[in-house]
Amino acid sequence: MRALALVADRKLELTDIAAPPPPGDGEVQIAVKAVALNHLDVWGFRGMAFVKRKMPLVVGAEAAGEIASVGPGVNNFKPGDRVVMYGALTCGICKACREGRDNLCENVGGIMGFHVDGFARDRLNMKARLVVPVPDGVSMRDAACAPIGFATVQHMLFDNARLKPGETVLVHAGGSGIGTAAILMAKAIGCTVITTVGDDAKAAKAKELGADHVINYRTERFEGAVRKITAKKGVDVVFEHVGAETFNGSLLSLKRGGRLVTCGSTSGPTTTINLMQLFQQQYRIIGSFGASLRNIRESLAKMAGGIRPIIDTEVALQDFERGLARLESRQVFGKVIVHF
Ligand SMILES: [Zn+2]
Repeated sequence: MRALALVADRKLELTDIAAPPPPGDGEVQIAVKAVALNHLDVWGFRGMAFVKRKMPLVVGAEAAGEIASVGPGVNNFKPGDRVVMYGALTCGICKACREGRDNLCENVGGIMGFHVDGFARDRLNMKARLVVPVPDGVSMRDAACAPIGFATVQHMLFDNARLKPGETVLVHAGGSGIGTAAILMAKAIGCTVITTVGDDAKAAKAKELGADHVINYRTERFEGAVRKITAKKGVDVVFEHVGAETFNGSLLSLKRGGRLVTCGSTSGPTTTINLMQLFQQQYRIIGSFGASLRNIRESLAKMAGGIRPIIDTEVALQDFERGLARLESRQVFGKVIVHF
């Protein structure tokens, strides 16, 4: 069967590997149908000096598929069921896991597609407890965006930033996979959304998604534009994932007592902040990474309710690398999907 493996930094190969054995106790076997790409895949592809991983490594960190068979003791799935998978090997027994805070597992065995083999293969066995059913009416393509794309945003905006109806939120990089999801989810509860984009074509698309104000960060400083739009008040929440280039401007965009939630640093991981500004303005800065199984269920429910992920490009498995290049290009608006 086919598997797409990273054999060295920046070198992907479509390989033929042995099919998995029949699923064991508590496991299901899944036929993968669609993989969604994330910046995590780009980092994995480029290689990161400090990441412990073995090569070859099957790539793919976010996916949807169909149950092919179930192992002993699995009663909640049957062949043909459509599912998505939780992509981190959590232990299921530590305090965090038992409390449903899966992304704080104390014994996590790695992120699939990054540290350990991922989803870009025809079939794999998974623990049934890490598998979530896809509701009727949600396509495999859209469902593939739930475990990371949608669930990360769900966790950031609602668990961490506690975004409320009527609040104002600044969403950075409104054309990115998570940026598009953040605009849709914030608008769905009646927030005012300000977003940033890097060109005018994306500005038009962000408006179509429902963004109330779109700032082209290449032609004006976003923090100044935010002050103007909010009549110098600032926003309640900033949705950050750009990092070094924007972090201080993001803090300046907040109102007193505002919340900044961040899950990424694509423009660089290091910055300095003014601590006096931090405590005098009573900012809350919240780091967010991944999501819980509950967040994936919530994301799929939102999709079933009509909030659909924005898809930029769909490619076949052998064109995975072209999908990654699209993601790296900054031309992308929405998600890149790899079909099986
Ligand atoms: Zn655990």
